[in-house]
Amino acid sequence: MPGLIVQKYGGSSVATTDLIRNVARRVARVHDRGTRIVGVVSAMGDTTDDLIAVAKRVTSDPPDRELALLLSTGEVVTAALLTMALRTEGYEATALTGFQAGIRTNPVHTKAQILDIEPSRIHRELDTGAIPIIAGYQGWTDDQDIAVLGRGGSDTTAVAIAIALEADRCEILKDVDGVFSADPRIVPNARKLDFISYEEILELARAGSQVLHPRAAELGETYGMPIVVRSSFHEAEGTTIVTGDKMPLEGRERVRAIAHDTDVARITIVGVPDRPGIAYGVFAPIEAAAISVDVIVQNVSHQNVTDISFTVARTDLTRTLRIVEPLAREMQAQDVTSSGTMAKVSIVGSGMVANPGYAARMFGALAESGCNIISITTSEIRITCLIDEAQVPVAVRALHDAFRLDEA
Ligand code: ASP
Ligand code: MG
Repeated sequence: MPGLIVQKYGGSSVATTDLIRNVARRVARVHDRGTRIVGVVSAMGDTTDDLIAVAKRVTSDPPDRELALLLSTGEVVTAALLTMALRTEGYEATALTGFQAGIRTNPVHTKAQILDIEPSRIHRELDTGAIPIIAGYQGWTDDQDIAVLGRGGSDTTAVAIAIALEADRCEILKDVDGVFSADPRIVPNARKLDFISYEEILELARAGSQVLHPRAAELGETYGMPIVVRSSFHEAEGTTIVTGDKMPLEGRERVRAIAHDTDVARITIVGVPDRPGIAYGVFAPIEAAAISVDVIVQNVSHQNVTDISFTVARTDLTRTLRIVEPLAREMQAQDVTSSGTMAKVSIVGSGMVANPGYAARMFGALAESGCNIISITTSEIRITCLIDEAQVPVAVRALHDAFRLDEA
């Protein structure tokens, strides 16, 4: 059976030209087995960060359209180099930008969403026996502008391409062996999970785990695309993402993993008059600017005055303050305060739906380790606490121990 797979290689897996040549050999091995393969690549190493830094040296406030164009070049470089490496090894391969691959996006230049994919060019390459290598993280808008998908978006490119091509599966190859019960750099006895559900990986992604872009998990679940997260450095199995009902039984019963996120800034609007429409008045303009807001807390009001706190990514802090400060003045709030050194720690697991007691255990473990909880949010299968960034390592280790995640 010939089959078709999409393999996506992340930034650290293509950080140097030697690594790119290794990736070429790995892609070639799949091709040699008679499986058709499409590659999707990230920018080399820290290229995207470097490009952002370069833009900031030219202007403190780069225009989104040109910033997107600039950032899209990182992935184009990798696609071109990987294709050259494959050709040197004697394989037919064709590098494609997101535009050439037919990836259409909405017009939010630096945080675009894929609308659809017109894969005729990819099919044409595959039909001639060539290996298409697609630049991840990008597409083009109705106005023929280049847009990028938001940080980490190449995963989403890969899953969307796999869906458009009706591939057998999408492999996400990284510098880690799969999805872990916590970040192994913080928790040395963290375990690699063999299986995880789409729901769980989506919550982990939302909780700040860098293992898979949230949109990629969402698309995978919606279209039932099998996703495997595995190492690009060796052939071990990695972690397979499955639907909840296909999860091995023991995995359904418990907290599966601890996530943490240090890319968190908090804004508090102090002393806002408590009347209908205030929350809408604050969050509608922020949403219109495509800024995602997370942990939102509004206090019970005293004398008709309340505080509203919420978190955004640190990179969005200045932009958000620029929106919120004039609004707060209009609403006659007393003050706007902010902190750029917050973090989130989360516990995630489908088992939480059916079993009570997880919240108390989490708060107990944090208290025992001396972590002050600033605010709390929950979903059906996740509890997230906002804490100070400095306390992340202690908090993550305490939670990993409290839920005995080192035990199989
Ligand atoms: N290069 C982009 C980033 O670093 C996209 C990606 O790697 O997926 O965010
Ligand atoms: Mg990257």
